[in-house]
Amino acid sequence: MSPVTSTRRRQVAAFILLLVEAALFALLVTESLAGAIVAAAITCLSFWAHLVLHECGHFVAAKLLRLEVVAVHIAPFNGWRNHVSVRPAPSSAALPLRMVLFYLSGPVVNLCTATALVAATALTSTPFTRFALFSAAFLAALLGLVNLVPSPHSDGRNLLTWLSAPTATSAALRAAYYEEEIDRTLRTISHGEADDGRLGDPVRDGNDTRLALAAFQRRWSTGQARSATDFVADAERLAALAHADSTDPVTAAAIGQALSVQFGLRYLYAAVVTRSPVQHREAVEIWELAQLGSQVRPHELAARVAMSLAYLLNQRPEQARALLLDVRAGVDPPDLCSVAFLLRAIAECHLGNHAEADTHIRAAGGGYPQLTQVVATIQAADPVLPLSAPAPMAGI
Ligand SMILES: [Zn+2]
Repeated sequence: MSPVTSTRRRQVAAFILLLVEAALFALLVTESLAGAIVAAAITCLSFWAHLVLHECGHFVAAKLLRLEVVAVHIAPFNGWRNHVSVRPAPSSAALPLRMVLFYLSGPVVNLCTATALVAATALTSTPFTRFALFSAAFLAALLGLVNLVPSPHSDGRNLLTWLSAPTATSAALRAAYYEEEIDRTLRTISHGEADDGRLGDPVRDGNDTRLALAAFQRRWSTGQARSATDFVADAERLAALAHADSTDPVTAAAIGQALSVQFGLRYLYAAVVTRSPVQHREAVEIWELAQLGSQVRPHELAARVAMSLAYLLNQRPEQARALLLDVRAGVDPPDLCSVAFLLRAIAECHLGNHAEADTHIRAAGGGYPQLTQVVATIQAADPVLPLSAPAPMAGI
């Protein structure tokens, strides 16, 4: 049985159980079979209403708190994937408080509904109506409280995360958005090429090299399970394949570009955001991979982006700038142009040309907010932030 079928069967079973229980209780209270069936039906329908109200609570809160809503799913009885997804800007004001209010809003709406329903029972004296109101109130309170329990994907879990570690959660959000920007850059570089049944396998010596690159990108693209150790080990195997004599130059160049950009952008983030400049050995590796990446078509923008990033991480802003003097917006892929403009802005910052840096930040547009913020941090720092540890690289 597939997990989906199994989950759906459990849901149907739970729903039937709820219906039967409600009918039995209703029978005890109303002492009339017809009344019991109607009361049970009302109870069960109220559950659907509580689910909708719960998500409406999140939705209205998101709007009031100015959190960008990216998805709204309200599909009761068709899986439990009801949710309102938001995409908050990590640097926005009072974000932890707003996220706490957002996650509280759904359960609070259920608990307020329960209170209102209990209060409404005072207005009626008929057993049937009182039963229907009480049972609906019970379900509302149950839904609100169950959602506050910290289980996977529950509001309670998210609340706990934002309450217990607000700074770390904001930082993790920012890092995750930055990873998405890296992924987008890599997709532009690889032109979305290569899809195959063998993709997704770990990179191993002896694999077809082109497939190994595609497998690597697929395995480590945003949204998949990540283990930092596995990721680095996989990347090292791929780098070894790229350097091997048996690998054809075009594939080696593709791997060189992808790895130098992926790791180069990560090191840039670490140097600026977590203030841990790239180590000499890592800077050398990036430079070697970027060189490999520009051995076939050195004038292609992807190759120049990879090389300029390597120069920046090796404290050579002049060379980085020289490679990015001619970026043809409208000819080269727009995403890659944005990254190129932002790297050029970093080079200009390190060369003391702040007005030029501003021009290129504007030219990049707003498509890479996290990378733009990294550049803005470099620009605002005085003295200019070092990107790599002091030891200069010989031979560049
Ligand atoms: Zn919720």
